[in-house]
Amino acid sequence: MGTFELFKAHLTRITDLKMISSMMNWDMETYMPEKGGFYRGQQMATLSGIIHQMAIDPRLGKWIAQLQKDNQLNAVQKRSVALAKRGFERSGKYNEAFVVELSTTISASHQAWQKARAADDFSIFAPMLEKIVSIKRRECEILGYQDHPYDALIDQFEPGTTTAEVDTLFTEVRAQLMDFVHRIQLKQTPEVDFLYAAYPTNEQWDYGLALLQQMGYDFKAGRQDVSAHPFSTTFSPEDVRITTRVEEKNFYGMVWSCIHEGGHALYEQGMPTQYYGLPVCEYVSLGIHESQSRLWENNVGRSMSFWQNNFDALKNRFPEQLNGVSLSGFYRAINAVRPSLIRTHADELTYHFHILIRYKIEKALIEGSLEVRDLPAYWNACYKEYLGIDVPSDAEGVLQDIHWSHGSFGYFPTYSIGSFYAAQFYHQATKDIDNLEDEIASGNLKPLLGWLRKNIHQHGKMYTARELCERTTGEPLSFQYFMDYAFKKYGALYDMKVENVL
Ligand SMILES: [Zn+2]
Repeated sequence: MGTFELFKAHLTRITDLKMISSMMNWDMETYMPEKGGFYRGQQMATLSGIIHQMAIDPRLGKWIAQLQKDNQLNAVQKRSVALAKRGFERSGKYNEAFVVELSTTISASHQAWQKARAADDFSIFAPMLEKIVSIKRRECEILGYQDHPYDALIDQFEPGTTTAEVDTLFTEVRAQLMDFVHRIQLKQTPEVDFLYAAYPTNEQWDYGLALLQQMGYDFKAGRQDVSAHPFSTTFSPEDVRITTRVEEKNFYGMVWSCIHEGGHALYEQGMPTQYYGLPVCEYVSLGIHESQSRLWENNVGRSMSFWQNNFDALKNRFPEQLNGVSLSGFYRAINAVRPSLIRTHADELTYHFHILIRYKIEKALIEGSLEVRDLPAYWNACYKEYLGIDVPSDAEGVLQDIHWSHGSFGYFPTYSIGSFYAAQFYHQATKDIDNLEDEIASGNLKPLLGWLRKNIHQHGKMYTARELCERTTGEPLSFQYFMDYAFKKYGALYDMKVENVL
C-alpha cells in the first residue's frame, strides 16, 4: 500500500469508531433502558480512549510528514493531509492524565448541574464549575493562543475565528439590534396563544415527518425518533438521524425544532460520501452547521412564502386549534418578538442577546475577570441590561444551559455566527435562483436544496468557513445581511420605517 492509502485506512478506522460512539450516544438518548447508563458510560469512555490512542499513533505522524512532501497529491488529498496534521498536533498536546481529569470532572460537573437545576440552587453547581473553569484555563495554555486565552477555545468549534473578531462582530450586533428591538417593543405584541393550544401528539408527529419530507430529507438515509432534547447525529452521510420532542401544548416548539434539525441533517446527508473517513467529509465548523439549520428554520420556515404554501394544509389538519386564525395572523404569531428568559425559547432577534450575554460571561471567566461565586448576580444584571427582564430564579437563569457543565466554553458564539451566515447565504440564494420566493410559495423547495448542495454541502471541509463564505457570496461574513433581513421582515411586520436596507 502507498503512504496515502495507509494514512487513509488509519483515518477511516478512527472515523468508524467515532461513528460507533455517535450511535451509542444516539441510543442512550433515545431507546436505552433506564439501567443501561452505567456500563454505557464505561463503554463510551473505553472507546474514546482507543480513539485517542489511534489519533496520536506515531505512524500517523510519520505518514503525514511524508505526505506533506509529496507533490503528486490532488487537492482533496492535500487538504486531507493538512487537516489531519492539525488534528494530530492538537491531539498530541493532551497528555493522558489531563484527558482523564477533564472527562471525570465533566461527568461529575454534569451531575452537579442537573441536581442544582432541579433544586434551583446554584451553590450545588458552583464548586464544580470552578473546577471546570480552572481546567479550561489550563487547556488554553496546553493548546496555545495568540492574543487571548479564549482564542484557543473558540478555535475548537469555529476554526480560525479569534476573540477579537467575535468582539468586533458582537459590538456591532449589540449596537444595531438592540436599538431595533427596543423600537419593536413599543409596538403591539401579536396574539400567540393558539400556538400553545393542545395539539394531539400523534398528529404533531405526523406533521413533523411531512415537513421533513417536504424539505427533501431522505428517509432512506435517516429516521426521526423522540428524545428529551432534539438533536441530529451522523453515522455516515447515508445514515443521518434526527430526534424531536413532542408535547401536547408545545406544537410551536415541535414544528420549528423539526425544521431546524432537518436543516442540520440535510447538510450531513449532502456530504461527499466518496471521501468517507477523510477529514474533508466532515462539516466545516459549528457556525456553518448552524447556518444550515437556521436558514431552514428562520429564513424559510418563518417566512410568508413558506406558509403561503403550507397554511391551508396545516389548518385542515388542526381546524379547532387554528379556528379563526388567518395566514397573516399566523405569520405574525410565529415571528413575535418578545424578550424572554430562556435562550431556546427566544425569537430570532432577541436570541442573539442571550448569546452576547453568555459570550461576555464565559470570556470573563476564562480571563479571570469574573469569579464563579459572582456569576448569578452578574447573569441577572446582564438580563436586565440586555433584555430588560428580571430573572426570578437561577433555574431559569444561570443554570438553564447544559454547555458549561460539559466544559463547552467557546461554543455559544457559533449559534449567532450561524444565523449571520444563514442570512448572507440566503441573500445570495435569492440572487442566484430565479424567483426563489415564488418557488417556495408554490411548495417547490428543490431549487434551494440544490443550491445548498452545490455551494455548501458537497464541499464538506474542503474550505475554511471564511473561504466557503467568500466562494459562495463573494465576501467574508458580514453582519449587515442579517440586519438587512431583520429590517425588511420586521419593519413590515411591525409597520416601522427602516433605513440602511441594502
Ligand atoms: Zn442547531
